[in-house]
Amino acid sequence: MPFSSWVQWAQLPWITRGLVAIRSSVVRIVWPMLVTIATLLLAVAMPSLAATNRHKCRSQRPQAFLERPTYVRNGAIVGEAHAKSIRYRVANYGFINGMGQEGLNRISAESMATRTEFFGHAIRVNRRIVPALQCVEERIEHQCSKPRDAYYPKNIGGIRLSNTIRGGEISNHLFGIAIDIDPDRNPCCHCVGDWKKDPKCAKTVKSPFERAALTHCWVDAFDHFGFYWLGRDTLEDTMHFEFLGDPKRILR
Ligand SMILES: [Zn+2]
Repeated sequence: MPFSSWVQWAQLPWITRGLVAIRSSVVRIVWPMLVTIATLLLAVAMPSLAATNRHKCRSQRPQAFLERPTYVRNGAIVGEAHAKSIRYRVANYGFINGMGQEGLNRISAESMATRTEFFGHAIRVNRRIVPALQCVEERIEHQCSKPRDAYYPKNIGGIRLSNTIRGGEISNHLFGIAIDIDPDRNPCCHCVGDWKKDPKCAKTVKSPFERAALTHCWVDAFDHFGFYWLGRDTLEDTMHFEFLGDPKRILR
């Protein structure tokens, strides 16, 4: 109700003036307060809403029979141990094209690959390990923020469609259960190629961490959820993590 003068306002009954004053207060003071409170409540609630969408993973160790030192001794494949690990991988993650494994699983590892993100980088991995990878990322975000623990990946690789290991081994990249982080900063000193020329490989070290830019904190986070760091292996493949836990036990 517009009032052109104080005279008009004063002529109104006292009850009408009271109601108009209350309505005016609601518009000027109470309503903005309600909007502010609602905004604050939403801001407080959002992180917990986001958290409920995150996975809760079990901590688990890599399964020993899947670890490379179990089926490769002194550079040679141990026949039955290797065959057992391959049977498990095919049964759980799909067959590799051209290797005659369809009797163990009618689904190919390639068809089980899905796109996901790891620290903002798009990668393709076997869909079964996506929750484990997300739990690793979340743990790193919470626990590896100090300068000595932090690491910022620039290039991450996941599934591959052709084998990259000599001597009859089948790379876990073919199953989509391995990722490589920044090969230029985390070398594989005994892999195929010119790695020996890499200064990080030429020096004598007591720990694989002296060759890698990756931090203990990062490796610990992968360890926590059943990934195996090949930096500890005789290959000294410091860029490489592979999920060797039980895929049925990833989620709590
Ligand atoms: Zn790799």
